[in-house]
Amino acid sequence: MGGALGVFQEYTRSVLTMFFSTRRTFLRTAAAGAVASRAFAQAAKIDTTPLGDNLHMLTGAGANILAFTGADGVTLVDGGLAQNAAALAQAVTALPKSGPVRTLFNTHWHPEQTGSNATLGAAGVAIIAHENTRLWLQQNITWPWNHQTFKKFPKAAQPNKTFYDKGALDSGIRYGYISDAAHTDGDLYVYFPQQNILAVGDAAYGQGWPVVDWWTGGWIGGIVGGLQRIQSVANKDTKIVPAQGPLLTYADLALQLDMYGTIYDRLNQMMNKGRGPTEGVAAKPAKEYEAKMGNADEFIRRSFESLWAYLSPDA
Ligand SMILES: [Zn+2]
Repeated sequence: MGGALGVFQEYTRSVLTMFFSTRRTFLRTAAAGAVASRAFAQAAKIDTTPLGDNLHMLTGAGANILAFTGADGVTLVDGGLAQNAAALAQAVTALPKSGPVRTLFNTHWHPEQTGSNATLGAAGVAIIAHENTRLWLQQNITWPWNHQTFKKFPKAAQPNKTFYDKGALDSGIRYGYISDAAHTDGDLYVYFPQQNILAVGDAAYGQGWPVVDWWTGGWIGGIVGGLQRIQSVANKDTKIVPAQGPLLTYADLALQLDMYGTIYDRLNQMMNKGRGPTEGVAAKPAKEYEAKMGNADEFIRRSFESLWAYLSPDA
């Protein structure tokens, strides 16, 4: 036990060191980022791709967004970044058989998913999310690894129809909790049975290494469990829509499951030998995947930290 506590203290110290040494750099970067996102807002162009009957994917607002144009209004899966909410609303209005937005899903609390909550919530739209997503949006959040801050949402912008397990809409759309905490502890999927399309937010990635947001519950073991759960909702012909990158097939999920399972095992073994995140990164446990996936250092560090966060009693 003393060993584990020592390791945790070392970890806490390293987080604090990171906090103080990067704070000044962070503020400069944040100022530059604000300028960049204003430039991006002016250039925001939303592209529309048909995915099946009355179902379109909209890209360019910060995340992949699904829009179902039903007889009784539009259902959206995720809302993009706030600075792109107006451009997104225009693109939704321009869809064939469009109408007023009635329902918005938040696949998790991140800004790429919740940027239309303020306008749509004020317009009386039902915002469906897992209860944990609502709880995160009710508080200010600071990520310890880069000190990025997220302001809590006013009541009108918070999800107003939360659930714990699963549910369905009159249109036949089904949704449910991805309880493994692949990305956060509030991940949900939305399944369109008629089109055989499954939206999974950031519980699966279409390109690059995932962000492991262990501060709000995500962890490397949850990535593995989440992929298995997504497979259990899907079938071999289902197209899976991640929040980022191109659509995935069932076979893509199987490959990802194999890769993340391998990496998870390696990190677990290192942790059981008392190694820390820096040693984990140095050991290159994702080496054979990097040619295709890109440098994994950031992902491995967050994943290792996520093991500690998951296993520490007050996480
Ligand atoms: Zn996310």
